[in-house]
Amino acid sequence: MAAIEVRGLTKLFGKTPAIRDVTLEVHDGEFLVLLGPSGCGKTTLLRCIAGLEHVDRGSILIGGRDVTDLAPRARDIAMVFQSYAVFPHMTVAGNIGFGLRMHRRPPAEIEMDEPLSNLDALLRLQARADLKRLHKEVKRTTVYVTHDQVEAMSMGDRIALMRDGQIEQMGAPMHIYDNPASQFVGGFIGSPPMNFLRGRLREGAFAGDGFSVPLAKARAGLDGRDMLLGVRAEHIAIGSEGVPATVLVVEPLGSHTLVTALVGRTPVKVQAPIDSTVRPDEIVHLRFNEPTLRWMDASSGSAVES
Ligand code: ATP
Repeated sequence: MAAIEVRGLTKLFGKTPAIRDVTLEVHDGEFLVLLGPSGCGKTTLLRCIAGLEHVDRGSILIGGRDVTDLAPRARDIAMVFQSYAVFPHMTVAGNIGFGLRMHRRPPAEIEMDEPLSNLDALLRLQARADLKRLHKEVKRTTVYVTHDQVEAMSMGDRIALMRDGQIEQMGAPMHIYDNPASQFVGGFIGSPPMNFLRGRLREGAFAGDGFSVPLAKARAGLDGRDMLLGVRAEHIAIGSEGVPATVLVVEPLGSHTLVTALVGRTPVKVQAPIDSTVRPDEIVHLRFNEPTLRWMDASSGSAVES
């Protein structure tokens, strides 16, 4: 077991940086998830750690040893690729059957009806749980790449959320979920994404285009500034009083009902109980759970202390 340290790492493809001055530490035995949209540099960062890419600047240490210029096999690590099919040009049945054919098993045994093709989502859930259990047993330092935020939330001891070759935020999944460092993070983590309302704080309220959210707590220093209010669907309740909103869509999802309602001109997702009786076009009143509200600067999208 060993910690991994990445220091000031830059990786260029031609003149284009895929990784830009990234510094991070993966603790000994930790399961770190590199998360982010397509093209943000997750795979490149993983390949640099594994030694499959030459780095342009910075260094990589594994267990305190500088491995930046060492070949992959000298780094004492293992890597599993996304494309695990042995023969990409063959079907699932072809791949699974290949070994059996090589062992000259009878054709009846080799023949199969692609049973995995209908199990994809289920298998993924199963694999997620299996992998988490396995990591708990072996406690190997692990760096895991995914663009699936649910997978990241479920499996990561910590998540490093990447954007444009940099780390936008790194931390425990629930910390990031509750305290996103930016609008990008709040929008990427969570399903549905965090809601954002644009407006200004003034005299005990946050007011924007066609709405006003009353606030009990004053926020020194933010008065008059253009801000984004970030709020999760589960922190908004439909009640008899509050911010008026027009219901657009009602989606019963089994465990809860997802209600989309227009606050001013902004559609907002609200997590309502499954027995909610609200209907499209109805005017409802929304109560925002004030301690959970997050504030971002409207132009940069970065979180501000409040
Ligand atoms: P995905 O989820 O789609 O795999 P990613 O976050 O893993 O995306 P990378 O594959 O690391 O992203 O790519 C980061 C950037 O580097 C992208 O702009 C990509 O086009 C570029 N890139 C990656 N590999 C190469 C390469 N071998 N040559 C040139 N550009 C590359």
